[in-house]
Amino acid sequence: MEKTYTDTLPFTMHSLEKQETICIFGTGDFGRSLGFKMLQCGYTVVFGSRNPQKSSRLPNGAEVLSHSEAAQKSDIIIIAIQREHYDFLTELTEVLKGKILVDVSNNLKINQYPESNAEYLAQLMPGNHVVKAFNTVSAWALQSGALDASRQVFVCGNDSKAKRRVMDIVRTLGLTPLDKGSLMAAREIENYPLQLFPMWRFPLYLSAALCIFFFFYCVIRDVIYPYVYEKKDETFRMAISIPNRICPITALVLLALVYLPGVIAAILQLYRGTKYRRFPDWLDHWMLCRKQLGLVALGFAFVHVLYTLVIPIRYYVRWRLKNTTITQVTTNKDDPFSTTLAWRSDSYVALGILGFFLFVLLGITSLPSVSNTVNWREFRFVQSKLGYLTLILCTAHTLVYGGKRFLSPSILRWCLPSAYVLALIIPCTVLVLKFALIMPCVDKALTRIRQGWERNAKISKSTLNEKTDI
Ligand code: NAP
Repeated sequence: MEKTYTDTLPFTMHSLEKQETICIFGTGDFGRSLGFKMLQCGYTVVFGSRNPQKSSRLPNGAEVLSHSEAAQKSDIIIIAIQREHYDFLTELTEVLKGKILVDVSNNLKINQYPESNAEYLAQLMPGNHVVKAFNTVSAWALQSGALDASRQVFVCGNDSKAKRRVMDIVRTLGLTPLDKGSLMAAREIENYPLQLFPMWRFPLYLSAALCIFFFFYCVIRDVIYPYVYEKKDETFRMAISIPNRICPITALVLLALVYLPGVIAAILQLYRGTKYRRFPDWLDHWMLCRKQLGLVALGFAFVHVLYTLVIPIRYYVRWRLKNTTITQVTTNKDDPFSTTLAWRSDSYVALGILGFFLFVLLGITSLPSVSNTVNWREFRFVQSKLGYLTLILCTAHTLVYGGKRFLSPSILRWCLPSAYVLALIIPCTVLVLKFALIMPCVDKALTRIRQGWERNAKISKSTLNEKTDI
């Protein structure tokens, strides 16, 4: 019996159609959970199993039959079985003919097979319409109802009518279908559940590398150097002093690295005189994980704030204060008030507070719940303009902290400058380059390129033709 389907029906009408029967092959974890959810949403569910008599723990109201008997009851069959066992389906070719087969399977490894599981199923069953769906939803989420994190169901298939029917079921189950196009997209969809923080990996590795480098750098300068030359044990610095250097340095470098790819991209576009040539893959990937870089940087800035707050209660700080006071009393010498130093100290703290405030604002606006409420221009204003302002404030905070000391040769230990000097290299480079890019003559050329102008249109067109020929 040919089922009628129309995309334009309102939700209430779909609800009236819920009586349709869905067949699920496989009475394992996923089949059972999906069947349970479908029964809850008003569908009639029939399971196809190798051992219909032995199947237990199935949801109340579901029927269990042999594969061929179950397949006759519905024209949509959900294959809740591992890919390795798909072979048995070829014996059911006749009874399954013309039906919609929904592939829900996942693999153990990314790109485990030469073709996606759904494409493999389509090759195995050429007389069927194969649709990929539900693989990103877990059995646990379906049964417990905790579907907030995985409400999206990616759907793809070559037959649009079949795909729309599956998307209809997805909607009725209270999930959100996302049409990913033809069955070619199945490989990408099958890789989704196997990805482990793909956008976070680069920022996390990078921050770990920066932390390790600066930790050893500071240990050489602040622990080993005093021990070798003054026989002083300064190892206690490894608990708070050194981490309180590493955190702001890492935060500042990472924040600068959020803006560096944009600057490199602009320089590349100016150099090439066109925006129509692809950026190198590494730059593309770097640009895609800018949000994660920024959030990791914010985390380090936050830890720096916490470390700074505990400075007054540290034994070493209290001991130094007490000692300085006693020395002044015993020698009857006081330390005259220096307006310059007062200015420097207050500006350093003020710049840090303002920088951190804007940093937090940037972090908040990058949250999907907030960024969804602002338009593209507002988002760009916050992330780009306020972002650069944050970078300027944080760089100035570090510069003022160092003050004249940065230029003094006395801060060199074994020819190594203070860690803050190294930390300033990338932020200052980014700011200088950005300053050059916003110069009216450069900015005008860049804006034209970004609006589609090409310096050498003829050459670009021939390059484009060459590429399409290939
Ligand atoms: P499972 O608990 O191992 O169940 C698989 C079912 O397949 C078995 O209960 C069995 O059902 C059937 N089966 C096993 N060997 C078979 C064979 N040789 N021939 C025919 N049928 C066979 O696995 P599952 O967790 O339900 O996963 C099923 C599919 O859903 C997999 O492809 C998985 O990647 C996908 N998936 C699972 C989840 C999840 O959270 N578990 C999430 C998304 C996608 P009968 O005994 O009734 O025949």
